Amino acid sequence: MGFGTKAIHAGQEPDPTTGAVMTPIYQTSTYWQKTPGDNKGYEYSRGTNPTRKALEDCLAALENAKYGLAFSSGMGATDAVMKLLMPGDEVITGNDLYGGSYRIFTKVFANYGIKFHFIDLTNPENIHQYLNEKTKLIWLETPTNPMMQIIDIEAVSKIAKSKNVILAVDNTFASPYLQNPIDLGADIVMHSVTKYIGGHSDVVMGALLLNDEDLYKKLWFIYNACGATPGPQDSFLVLRGIKTLHLRMKAHCENGEKIAHFLKNHPKIEKIYWPGFTDHPNHDVAKKQMRGFGGMISIVLKDADLAETFRISGNFKVFTLAESLGGVESLINHPATMTHGSIPKEEREKVGVVDNLLRLSVGVEDVDDLIDDLKSALS
Ligand SMILES: *Cc1c(COP(=O)(O)O)cnc(C)c1O
Repeated sequence: MGFGTKAIHAGQEPDPTTGAVMTPIYQTSTYWQKTPGDNKGYEYSRGTNPTRKALEDCLAALENAKYGLAFSSGMGATDAVMKLLMPGDEVITGNDLYGGSYRIFTKVFANYGIKFHFIDLTNPENIHQYLNEKTKLIWLETPTNPMMQIIDIEAVSKIAKSKNVILAVDNTFASPYLQNPIDLGADIVMHSVTKYIGGHSDVVMGALLLNDEDLYKKLWFIYNACGATPGPQDSFLVLRGIKTLHLRMKAHCENGEKIAHFLKNHPKIEKIYWPGFTDHPNHDVAKKQMRGFGGMISIVLKDADLAETFRISGNFKVFTLAESLGGVESLINHPATMTHGSIPKEEREKVGVVDNLLRLSVGVEDVDDLIDDLKSALS
C-alpha cells in the first residue's frame, strides 16, 4: 500500500458499534468487565484506549513497523527509551541535538548514573572509539536540529548491530514521508508527533515505532507503568492531521526548495544549511536515505550581532516567531535563546548554533508570499 493510502486508512476501520467512518473519540478512562478480567480488550485508558490504538497502528504502518506507542509528548517518548537503561550503562549520541533531548540526557538521566557521549556522528567511524561493553544505546537525530547535519542511518546501524547495541532514531525532522529508519536498520523510531505528523500546531505528542517484540513488551511496560500516555481527544486530532501528511510534506518540500534557493545567494546571508544543496557536506547521504529534503532551513545572518538578529526576527509578517516546527504555517526560531537555550553557549557554538543563526520551518502557504516576507524582513 502506498504512503497516502496508509496515512488515511491504516489502523482505522469503521467503528464496529455504529459504522462511524472517522474513529470516535473514546472519552473514557475505564471499561466494563463482565467478571474480573473478562473484558473487551480494554481495562483502563492509561494503558489502552481505542482512539489511541487506531493512531498507534497508523503511525506504525507509516514507519513500516509492527508496533506503535503514543506518548503525551516527544520528550515522554524519549524518557521511556532511556528507562530501558540501568545505572552504569552508556549512550552514544550526536553533538547536534534538539535542546530538550540534550537537557533530559544531561540533567535527568546523567543523575541516574547513565553516561552520555556527544560526538560527531556525520562520520560513523567516530563511534568505534566510544563503544565498549557498557554501551547499550545509540541515539541519533537526522536531519539534526538545527544544524541540518545528515547522519548515515544504515552505516550506524551496522556498527550498532555488530555490538548488540540498540539504535534509536529521532525521525522528527524528516517525518515518515521522507525517511523510514527501520528500513535502514534502526531498532526504534522516535517522533515528536507535535511537529510534521500532527502538522497543525494544535497538539503536543510523541511516539515510538518498532518491530522487535521483546523490546515492545519492555517499552509497553514502561509506557503503562510511568503513564506518559496521550488522551483520546489529542489522538483524534493527530489521526485527522495524518490524513494529509503526504500532501503537506510535498508542499513543505517544494516551498523549502524554492526558499533555500532564494536565500542561498542573498547578500544578508552568510551561511545556509539545507541538505538539498549539492554542496551540503552530507548531501549524498541525504539523497540515499531520504525521499526529499524537507522544509527545514537554518541560516546565519551576515554581520549581525544578537541585537540585530533579534531585530530581524521581529520583522516578519507571514513567518511567525515561535518555537516548534512542522506545522502548516511558517515559523521562524532563534535556536540560541529559544529551542536550544538549555545547551551551554560553548557547547552549542562548537557545532554552529551561534547567536546570529535563525531556523526556518517553511510552511505550506503560497511561496511567493513567503519569499516577499523574507525579502522585506532581511532588507
Ligand atoms: C520538538 C522535538 C522533540 C521533543 O518533542 P516534544 O513533542 O516537544 O516533547 C524531540 N526531538 C526533536 C527533533 C524535536 O524537534
